[in-house]
Amino acid sequence: MNNVMLVVDDQVINREILKILFHSEYEVIEAENGKEALEILESCRGNIDIVLLDLMMPELDGFQLLDKRKNLDSFRNVPVVVITGSGNMEDQVKTFELGANDFVTKPFIPEIVKSRVNNVMASTRRIQSIEKEAKKLKIKSELDAMTGLYNKTTTELSMDEVLKAGDGKLDVLMVIDIDNFKSVNDTSGHQAGDHVIKIIADLISGCFRKTDVVGRVGGDEFCALMVDVPSMDIAYEKANELIQTMRYKPNLAIPEYVTLSIGLAQNGKNRSSYAELFKNADSALYLAKGGGKAQYREYGVEPVDSSSDNRPAAILLSNNRSVCSIIHALVPAHVSVIEALEFDDLQKLSTEDKAKVVLMFADVSDKNDDTAEYWSRIKSLGWISMDNVFAVCKEGKVSQYMRALKSGVADMLTTPIDVAAFKRRLAAHLAKCGIKK
Ligand code: GH3
Ligand code: MG
Repeated sequence: MNNVMLVVDDQVINREILKILFHSEYEVIEAENGKEALEILESCRGNIDIVLLDLMMPELDGFQLLDKRKNLDSFRNVPVVVITGSGNMEDQVKTFELGANDFVTKPFIPEIVKSRVNNVMASTRRIQSIEKEAKKLKIKSELDAMTGLYNKTTTELSMDEVLKAGDGKLDVLMVIDIDNFKSVNDTSGHQAGDHVIKIIADLISGCFRKTDVVGRVGGDEFCALMVDVPSMDIAYEKANELIQTMRYKPNLAIPEYVTLSIGLAQNGKNRSSYAELFKNADSALYLAKGGGKAQYREYGVEPVDSSSDNRPAAILLSNNRSVCSIIHALVPAHVSVIEALEFDDLQKLSTEDKAKVVLMFADVSDKNDDTAEYWSRIKSLGWISMDNVFAVCKEGKVSQYMRALKSGVADMLTTPIDVAAFKRRLAAHLAKCGIKK
């Protein structure tokens, strides 16, 4: 049976968009204000799996609805994702205090709302399964009250147990620390800080499999044990995805300077305890911080320095946050990404870097003018063939499509980027260029 989603918004168009976005995974029920939502929640008792909630609405607004949540059995345990035009930190903090699970700003990118809803559902399921497991095993499972993840002690105990039970397969521990977190407390207050922790906890929790163990081990520090990982590449890709999402913060209204640093350690042939792995991952984290933050490092592995980085490179010519975030997170680890916000940045590339380029993502999705000039500049670069250029155009902008195709690009992506299609086409291009892992 499908999960049931309740979309509460006074604007028909917003409800329609969300309905189209989620109809294949959810049975979507609509309410046009808080009052109607309450009636639906009462009558559907226990059958609503998630609520998407607008804030400004007539009759009963989003804040008032959230305020009633804690006293209503039919609503208390249903996760709520607030989707609102307000990017205001105070509104976020207020909804968070009232128990909202996530906060997405409008105008939203559909793929991002989808992944944030998936994160919230995954973290709700994780909490439910932890509670069930704890009951079954009759262990006293201590959860961290703010995030619903395991607290430090439970994290240590259960990671040790999982590591002990391992049969020699690859396990990877990640220690994840929020960068510059003190400044959130200092500039926006402790409540805003709590809110940021909660949002990041959901993001982290939603990123791992149910069989992996995730916990909060310090104020702004988390641990994730990836169990039975097929190869280290999978762990690198996961770390990269988390770091890039936090770097670009698509539809996340949290301060610009908040990023993530990650230390990784793998379980060698001689089975390590949690304490050993933690010590190693933590020292790798220390190096990631020292290396400039917003990056990951693995224990015992030297970072590739750019002069000896022989990986083929993809250029990302874009200043659109969500495009950068998605592309950066999805390009596989055996291909490096060179960022360029403007054409001028391309001029600064070294001859060695230019020689490594096998692909360029040229993003025109934010451009309102005719893009003819843009494409002729790309062509005139001289060191990249149009066979290696992917255009990124805004969905529905036919003039952008036409110009891109006319200029002979290898492929065209439209925003919002479809993740599965992107991966497929990128893999095909890399295979065509003879690039293997
Ligand atoms: P770095 O980039 O080097 O990681 O520095 P940082 O600013 O993130 O600070 P650091 O990791 O050294 O310290 C984390 C701070 O988080 C310390 C404490 O003030 C704050 N903190 C710890 N627990 C909580 C909490 O539950 N809520 C809030 N709002 N702040 C917390
Ligand atoms: Mg920190």
